[in-house]
Amino acid sequence: MIIGPSLNTDLNPYDKDEQDLEIFYGLPRKVQFCKICNMSNQQPMSSNEYAHSHSSTKNTLTFNEEGVCHACSFNKLKESGEIDWDERERELLDLCDRFRREDGSYDCIVGGSGGKDSAMQSHLLKYKYGMHPLTVTWSPHLYTDIGWKNFQNWLHVGGFDNFLYTPNGKIHRLLTRNATINLLHPFQPFILGQKTFVAKMAAQLGIPLIFYGEMPGEYGEKISHKVSSYSSDSESGDGAGFSLDYISGKDIRDVYLGGKLIGEYLEDGVQLADLKSYLPMDSEILRKKGIDFKYLGYYKRWVPQEAYYYAVENTGFEANPVRTEGTYSKYNSLDDKVDGFFYFTRWIKFGVGRAMMDSAQEIRNHHISKEEGIALMRRYEGEYPARYEKEFLEYISMTQEEFLELCDRFRSPHLWKIEYGQWKLRHTPWGDIK
Ligand SMILES: [Zn+2]
Repeated sequence: MIIGPSLNTDLNPYDKDEQDLEIFYGLPRKVQFCKICNMSNQQPMSSNEYAHSHSSTKNTLTFNEEGVCHACSFNKLKESGEIDWDERERELLDLCDRFRREDGSYDCIVGGSGGKDSAMQSHLLKYKYGMHPLTVTWSPHLYTDIGWKNFQNWLHVGGFDNFLYTPNGKIHRLLTRNATINLLHPFQPFILGQKTFVAKMAAQLGIPLIFYGEMPGEYGEKISHKVSSYSSDSESGDGAGFSLDYISGKDIRDVYLGGKLIGEYLEDGVQLADLKSYLPMDSEILRKKGIDFKYLGYYKRWVPQEAYYYAVENTGFEANPVRTEGTYSKYNSLDDKVDGFFYFTRWIKFGVGRAMMDSAQEIRNHHISKEEGIALMRRYEGEYPARYEKEFLEYISMTQEEFLELCDRFRSPHLWKIEYGQWKLRHTPWGDIK
């Protein structure tokens, strides 16, 4: 599908000299691609979503003087011998020994959908390390057939107990529509809900240990490889973990959901009880209950393709029979019909699409070469996710015309230009458009 500017889009901002082009979201003016994995320096890093409004700026992936991104530097470190993986495994055995319960109750919790990562994590913990994990799932709203099947196989073939939580569908739809209109981020409500749900379940059920998958340095967050916990409360110092205190003393009415203040939702008649599942837990409760968040990827070397093979073998995981739109892969992020639009909108905002994400990761793990990555991007990057378009647009109550016009409003002029009536990125890993 060829996408040109919408009729109502003002084209003047896109028709200026390079140094005068406006920049959205505080992105770096000079677009740079990693010498090793092709990843763009426009790639945003995690930020506090509860403060995310239309005017927020982004932190982005950092590069060293040699033009290598932090994700690549981090991955090199994993292979350099700097990390003693045998020692790390002993640390994991110790951790498990400290937390393992033999009284029939759960001793750890793994959140996920039954995708390759959560499947491998939970399976290793239960069947290799003798833990008793509970698995918990925050439901996608538009389950794909393959996503539902993998979820079921995880429990029935893999052998796990699970809580599946489905939040109020009307509210989720409202938040998804707002997050799309205000932030061009249709996945934000899902991400917020999923992230906080695991901690809430751990606190409610008295489960002291939460496992996450890969370390955040793997995708370029500036968090040291020596940090095993998600929370900065557990380990402090340089490159420590994330803060759990998202609200930081703010009045709840001043917190954003979908780019709109909670105070405004309440004035519109939405009940606070209906928004609660999207809000973070009081970090004080987590502290008091002594709940810790550990990355399994700190203890065991994390290779996404190996997680895939592991899940196929042990939990009945199946790759998609059809190629995922916007990329070449068949086993990443398959559960929700909104997934494709999550990646497509990131491509609009940051010029980073799904093929770039997938290929950069596979280059770092030596499965494909830099040149193969470029060939795959030239073929698939930015492909419009047409397969579930109808359901997605119905879900957010928009026509295709309205959605594409909205996308235009999020195209930063320093990234995009129009060539022969078509939107084109000014800069790509295979060259620039003058
Ligand atoms: Zn890189």
